[in-house]
Amino acid sequence: MKREEALAIVRKQLKEQRYIHTLGVMETAVELATLYGADVQQAELAAIFHDYAKFRSKEEMKRIIIEQQMPQDLLMYSPELWHAPVGAYLVQTEVGIQDEHILNAIRYHTSGRPNMTLLEKIVYIADYIEPNRSFPGVDDVRALAKEHIDRALLRALQNTIQFLMEKNEPIYPDTFHTYNDIAKKLK
Ligand code: GDP
Ligand code: FE
Ligand code: FE
Ligand code: FE
Repeated sequence: MKREEALAIVRKQLKEQRYIHTLGVMETAVELATLYGADVQQAELAAIFHDYAKFRSKEEMKRIIIEQQMPQDLLMYSPELWHAPVGAYLVQTEVGIQDEHILNAIRYHTSGRPNMTLLEKIVYIADYIEPNRSFPGVDDVRALAKEHIDRALLRALQNTIQFLMEKNEPIYPDTFHTYNDIAKKLK
């Protein structure tokens, strides 16, 4: 699928600000794929569709998580996590993207997972550092992303876990599992 076609499809699913975020993720994912030698077209499509399900209702997302037998522990944690696996499912069934690498980059863009592929890391980091993001620590991750993608990923996970803990938010176990996986590999 071509970029313009993909953007036209996703634009209908998103509010204006979320579409602008998506353009930033696309641009950043293409830069990172070029820098690290990943497939640029896969990175571009995964980035364009990563937040496809962001504005689906909680009821619809919950129904899909149950009916499609996704990990049921998702339902015990924040609904903020749900649009990632539900997005992968809807991008496959509604848009017709069948590339498992792209679908997994969408599926794991919020929590990460152990043994992430380069493409999955690129979408995770691009989502975190795209030019419209402005939270504390983002510039550190931007700098790290140019040098060493795993160090950028570790820092992004540290920031996310710290941010959630400061808000007394429960943390999804896969977020910790991803952090532990990268932390051990960087030792
Ligand atoms: P976005 O969709 O572009 O806003 O970004 P993400 O998909 O990466 O994250 C969506 C939301 O999920 C953010 O508010 C994160 O803080 C939150 N989030 C990420 N990981 C976890 C987690 O482990 N637990 C909880 N409760 N929230 C998380
Ligand atoms: Fe997201
Ligand atoms: Fe993210
Ligand atoms: Fe996003």
